[in-house]
Amino acid sequence: MKMKALINIDYTNDFVATEGALTCGKPGQDIEQEIARLTESFIQENHYVVFAIDVHHPNDPYHPETKLFPAHNLEGTEGRNLYGSLQEIYEIHKDSKQVYWMDKTRYSAFAGTDLEIKLRERGINEVHLVGVCTDICVLHTAVDAYNKGFKVIVHKDAVASFNQVGHDWALGHFQGSIGAEVI
Ligand code: ZN
Repeated sequence: MKMKALINIDYTNDFVATEGALTCGKPGQDIEQEIARLTESFIQENHYVVFAIDVHHPNDPYHPETKLFPAHNLEGTEGRNLYGSLQEIYEIHKDSKQVYWMDKTRYSAFAGTDLEIKLRERGINEVHLVGVCTDICVLHTAVDAYNKGFKVIVHKDAVASFNQVGHDWALGHFQGSIGAEVI
């Protein structure tokens, strides 16, 4: 039996808004309607919906991203709120048992989190991925999901990157190397 979950990855102001600290810019903003539509539809159909959201603390000396990127998604800041209508959708449904806000500290939503145990205990075997960036956090999450034996579906009109070449490469990699469906 197919049991599916939607994993919403890092669709926050810092990663999407024009003034965001580490923004995808327009490609990220262009997927707002589709990511909102998919999220509402998964919630309406009573599927498990996870918001897997990067969290950082200022100048964390132990975090590898501190040297790689400007500060972003700092705990308690507006930059870490979901972008646009997705924040409203989350607010409306956040008390539902089917909706799970999950802080993550690495690219993959599986790294250092209880995501796998949450999916396994619900019998979920198919994960649908949306969010940003296609070639960073979505990619690393997809690879981990593949290695753990989940079927992976990537919604191509609901993922984006600041890097068009990386975006296109990742969509090909999903299909060609990890057997994902890109729909
Ligand atoms: Zn980060």
